[in-house]
Amino acid sequence: MLPIPQTSARPSSVSLFNRPNIGAIERCPQECSQLLASKCQGSAYDSRRFSMVGLRHVFKPAKHNSTGYYLKNPDNNKDQENYDVIILGGGAAGLMCALTAAGRGRRVLVLEKSNRIGKKILMSGGGRCNFTNYSIEPENFLCANPHFCKSALKRYTQWDFIKLVEEHGIAYKERKHQQLFCKDSAKDILAMLQHECDGCGVRIMNQIDVSTIQTLALSSNKTSVRYQLDFLKKDKDSAKSYSVHCESLVVATGALSVPTLGGSGMGYDIAQQFSIPLTERRAGLVPFMFTDQFKSVCERLSGISVEVEVSCHSQSFSESMLFTHRGISGPAILQISSYWNPGDTISINLLPTVEASDWLCQSKKTNPKNLLKTVLQKSLGKALISELQQLWWPDEAEKALAEFSDQRLKQLGEQLNRWQLKPSGTEGYRTAEVTLGGVDTDYISSRTMEAKNQAGLFFIGEVLDVSGHLGGYNFQWAWSSGYVAGLEV
Ligand SMILES: Cc1cc2nc3c(=O)[nH]c(=O)nc-3n(C[C@H](O)[C@H](O)[C@H](O)COP(=O)(O)OP(=O)(O)OC[C@H]3O[C@@H](n4cnc5c(N)ncnc54)[C@H](O)[C@@H]3O)c2cc1C
Repeated sequence: MLPIPQTSARPSSVSLFNRPNIGAIERCPQECSQLLASKCQGSAYDSRRFSMVGLRHVFKPAKHNSTGYYLKNPDNNKDQENYDVIILGGGAAGLMCALTAAGRGRRVLVLEKSNRIGKKILMSGGGRCNFTNYSIEPENFLCANPHFCKSALKRYTQWDFIKLVEEHGIAYKERKHQQLFCKDSAKDILAMLQHECDGCGVRIMNQIDVSTIQTLALSSNKTSVRYQLDFLKKDKDSAKSYSVHCESLVVATGALSVPTLGGSGMGYDIAQQFSIPLTERRAGLVPFMFTDQFKSVCERLSGISVEVEVSCHSQSFSESMLFTHRGISGPAILQISSYWNPGDTISINLLPTVEASDWLCQSKKTNPKNLLKTVLQKSLGKALISELQQLWWPDEAEKALAEFSDQRLKQLGEQLNRWQLKPSGTEGYRTAEVTLGGVDTDYISSRTMEAKNQAGLFFIGEVLDVSGHLGGYNFQWAWSSGYVAGLEV
């Protein structure tokens, strides 16, 4: 039997919970509503009163409207409950929203399709969760509207999350680029969120499969609506149907990246159901692949990492680049992939701290007998230089530097500083850390995350057209957007 949820402090909602033995409660014709209201008057609502009252009705959908509550046919084997807030998706944003809303006294239900919540949190940051960054700026986020993220990031900052982490005694450390990671395990962050949710009575149901979402207007002008969600909860050997109601529905289903960690397009379907447009979506923070002859170069160099500056569309990132069996990856490449479109060329500076043309001409003077590869190997390593030699100066491999013209050295220096590569594609959503694009933020309040055209419907986290750079920005967006929605639902 399901535990009966706690009642909310919110007086305006008529809080009617079913008890499984009397069936579920829904809106019902006026006379019924008045009867229930009068029975409740003057006393704190207790669902047991209804079993004592013993109200039973036969479900007559055609006659029912939005003016009252009724008990649904108890024989239909569906559990039905009312919540103030239902959050679809128990990831970073959903859990933050849940604990914030429940902390305000709202009755909150989190519906998670996977067998456990927070899978991405557990896998993030190599198991140590890069949960935020000391420096969070709007410039660290990609969105069609560059101003959209500002309000939420201001209302719930990295300092707020750090404080929460500290209150829970979680050890963390700063790595380069001001990124904050758990010292021990990402499990600490998930345990903290779970503990906060437990502490304020959030109910979490895993392994659910939502089939329909409907709106039920509560007032004639439709400014107040109630949502009904029908879903199946799968257990080991069985599945049970539920029908739940809420005043606020929060879509926190994340995005398409890494389906094995819960990536799904459900949030987009919900947006479209409510006529909220989507911006174009594609994989971000994702490795590049090559199908031309450069692929075999990458294969041979697989596992080698080099510090580079990589650029595309006037964006540059100085970080390490890693060769893989399929192409190139590493932080610099993941960052630039968010600015790359199919067909684009990226520019890689293999010697970001050196003007390579000048340096090679100078080396010719100081070490005229050296081979070019001998000079370059010191900075870039033997394996990489051996491959570059095959690509760029195979016929000059045995030439001493003195035999190179200055013009040729300048040309090679230019290649070292601005190596042009055209990836054939990305590894796609299978390995992407984020999905770029999503629910169009023009249709969402930047202060509350509520849909402008649909009262009580909220979108938070990665499902929105907001993606952060690598470095803890995506979790900070999840915390900030989840928090501001949690204050409003
Ligand atoms: C491997 C990996 C490592 C990462 N590392 C970092 C990092 O270190 N730092 C950082 O800032 N960001 C990192 N990210 C990005 C970060 O994980 C996401 O941006 C963030 O989790 C988004 O939060 P969210 O709550 O919007 O979505 P999610 O965390 O994806 O949560 C969505 C939840 O909704 C559930 N769901 C989906 N569909 C349904 C449905 N139909 N019904 C019910 N539930 C549903 C999913 O199972 C999931 O639990 C990483 C991403 C990946 C893939």
